[in-house]
Amino acid sequence: MDPYQLMQSAVDIVNDSAHPVNKIAAALAGDGPSGHPFSVAYTNYWPLPILKRIGPDRRIGNASGTIHAETACILNAPKSGGARVFITDPFCPNCAKNMAEAGIRAIYIDHKGFDKDFSRRRNEHFEDMSMYICEVAGISVYEIRRKERSITPILEISPDYTPPEDNPAQILSCSAGKRGFHEAIADAHAFYEGTPFALAAAHDPDGAPVVIRASTHPVPGLTRETDSALLEKTGEKYSYYLEPLNRVMMRSRRHGLAVNPQFVYSSRMPTSREQVNAVGAGLTRLQIGNPNDCRDTHGIAAAHSLAEKGIITYRTLSPRPKNKP
Ligand SMILES: [Zn+2]
Repeated sequence: MDPYQLMQSAVDIVNDSAHPVNKIAAALAGDGPSGHPFSVAYTNYWPLPILKRIGPDRRIGNASGTIHAETACILNAPKSGGARVFITDPFCPNCAKNMAEAGIRAIYIDHKGFDKDFSRRRNEHFEDMSMYICEVAGISVYEIRRKERSITPILEISPDYTPPEDNPAQILSCSAGKRGFHEAIADAHAFYEGTPFALAAAHDPDGAPVVIRASTHPVPGLTRETDSALLEKTGEKYSYYLEPLNRVMMRSRRHGLAVNPQFVYSSRMPTSREQVNAVGAGLTRLQIGNPNDCRDTHGIAAAHSLAEKGIITYRTLSPRPKNKP
């Protein structure tokens, strides 16, 4: 598919964004699970249940209720592995991390996005963080000019590069239904030994039942062994870590898995951002190992808001951790 047309398909919808100030759109083009090419395009948006029942101005925990355009494309793509993403603006580190986990191969940014308010871009850490994430994760980045039909590389990654991962998300075959789900949770508690993780039951593109599971992990390309100094540096707003439920949501898109929305589990309460993304992914039900445990108190507050408004139902599913002697 023609990159200029794909960029145009994002530009065409950008003014539909309900956001009063930051109107952003993205398109994602790739090959679906059965190999047929597809593209999707989204603006940043408030998922309908959040817009209607909470409203656009209230924060959910410490997250805004919006889904960024790039992340919306991934959540709604039949398969994101190997895909290209076209964005009207430079992207934020959280979307960079999501695109890395989702297996995006290349990102194209409309050149007009670079002419917009510089301070906003600086605030969003595009240069120092988003681009670095792409470099380690192996995502090429280009500037695209539709009128001139020119594409300028900002970062080009060798096709031979594979980002190192010390703890990649895992896709395992399992028995179908509730029994398989519960067995998979017990197995994961034993495997992750107390590290927070998330897990979802799904079907692979051939229709076979699988579980996808992941723990908290640095963005693909960074490892705890070689990048510990960088990983310890936590910014005010962003970190280089991906949270488990986010990883499961992004990795399932990467491989074109059909997640069963009834069977999504997190060993502790997900963060505010993960819960908002879960709403964007169409999830209405989360099973939680320990709902009083969370990375921070904001996640607990977010769960209260979303439960109170009937947007997500949280069910406690007793964890079965392997006790250490
Ligand atoms: Zn973003």
